[in-house]
Amino acid sequence: MWDKCGVIGIVSTEDVATPIFYGLRALQHRGQESAGISILAEGGAVRTHKALGLVDQAFTSEDLARLSGRLGIGHVRYGTAGGRGVENAQPLSVESVVGTVALAHNGDVVNAPEHRERLKLKGWGFVSENDSEVVVRMLANELAQTHNPVKAIKDLMSKIRGAYCFLFIIGERLFAVRDPLAIKPLVLGEVDGSYIVASETTALDVLGAEYIRDVEPGEILELTPHGFESHSVANEGSTAHCFFEHVYFARSDSVLDGVLVHDARSRIGARLWEESPADVDIVVPVPDSGRAGAQGLAEAADLPYKEALIKNRYVHRTFIMPGQDTRELNVKLKLNPIKRFIEGRRVMLVDDSIVRGTTMRRIVHLLRDAGAKEVHVRITSPPIVSPCYLGIDMHTRDQLVAANHSVDEIRTMIDADSLAFVSLPGLVGALGFSQNSLCLGCVTGAYPVEIPGERLRSQTSLGQFKEAGKVEKKTV
Ligand code: SF4
Repeated sequence: MWDKCGVIGIVSTEDVATPIFYGLRALQHRGQESAGISILAEGGAVRTHKALGLVDQAFTSEDLARLSGRLGIGHVRYGTAGGRGVENAQPLSVESVVGTVALAHNGDVVNAPEHRERLKLKGWGFVSENDSEVVVRMLANELAQTHNPVKAIKDLMSKIRGAYCFLFIIGERLFAVRDPLAIKPLVLGEVDGSYIVASETTALDVLGAEYIRDVEPGEILELTPHGFESHSVANEGSTAHCFFEHVYFARSDSVLDGVLVHDARSRIGARLWEESPADVDIVVPVPDSGRAGAQGLAEAADLPYKEALIKNRYVHRTFIMPGQDTRELNVKLKLNPIKRFIEGRRVMLVDDSIVRGTTMRRIVHLLRDAGAKEVHVRITSPPIVSPCYLGIDMHTRDQLVAANHSVDEIRTMIDADSLAFVSLPGLVGALGFSQNSLCLGCVTGAYPVEIPGERLRSQTSLGQFKEAGKVEKKTV
């Protein structure tokens, strides 16, 4: 159900395919459907290898050896827009007047279908169904007009709206782009003269790189072997960081826009206890993303924290398995309770979200079958009442149990003794951002970008942002 992608780009004085491979492995939690790397080879050709599966299934050492070059981008994917075949794997590349353009993209461009139809009418052909192909072809078209990569990217940004982090190889240059509301995360780091951009700091950590800063809202950052150069598109100071990155998507050891994800989750757990306590004996997380919230809750409640559900790490996530029967089996394969911790106890079970409610019902039953006297469920996000159009595969309200049922109805459906979600003010306060600097679309129904038929968060639309000058240049 939840989808997202991970991207990494590196410019170095040495070969970058292997560091990109390891960076992608550190971003594996962001996409397990396909993996790919594009490298600028000697002579200016872009070489790409991509395949379905996990990063270490998609690449052999021979594949990496063939990708020799000092500038490259990588991608791990869950499908959001488009199908799930290898033709939708990234990076994607097209030819342009300034050489090959390759793209690795995280997010969704909400008006890509309009552009696709417009371009089809002009006779353009598309080989995939995803919005990233629309973007890369639009960029090639802008380059044909300007021959100037920065101007072409700015022109592209003025035409698209949505959530995006783009890594582009354009000719022999590498650019990182973050949408003007900085909905999806993107960080910049450096190690031994190599410059790295990645979806999360975990990729920097695995490469031994120092975090320099987050890529700014609307920033176009060019990485060179000598440093980086920044151009920006102004957005009048507002942001819309996806709150679900902090609650679920990102790894707990990542730092997103200055906030350690583990700390944010722990604060939300503490807040949840203040808002919705209950007489229980132990606090149990649903691993992995419920863990930090459960720890914060247990500390605030002064209750024992027990890892009483053990996760089998070698089973894919339940939501990517098709069909309900497979899901049931998958929950059992994925989670096994430690009966000794649970038997005769009143359990507070902590998880990050409830989407359909079916998985949570099965977990509650696992605990009851293991002897739990009571099961009280606490959720570290508010109820998800609206779809996400900005990079998550959660496109209709029928998929969302909270869109159509009250909290008490959901409690009955999941067979819990009590159920509580963190409040919206509780969540926002615990994250440490102002409400207007976050995207809360799926829990409020008000979105930071214009989406036909949906409410717009009270702020300027992306179409109105204006060009700003170069803001930073660093050369070492
Ligand atoms: S709608 Fe929800 S999941 Fe989608 S970007 Fe906004 S906060 Fe994130």
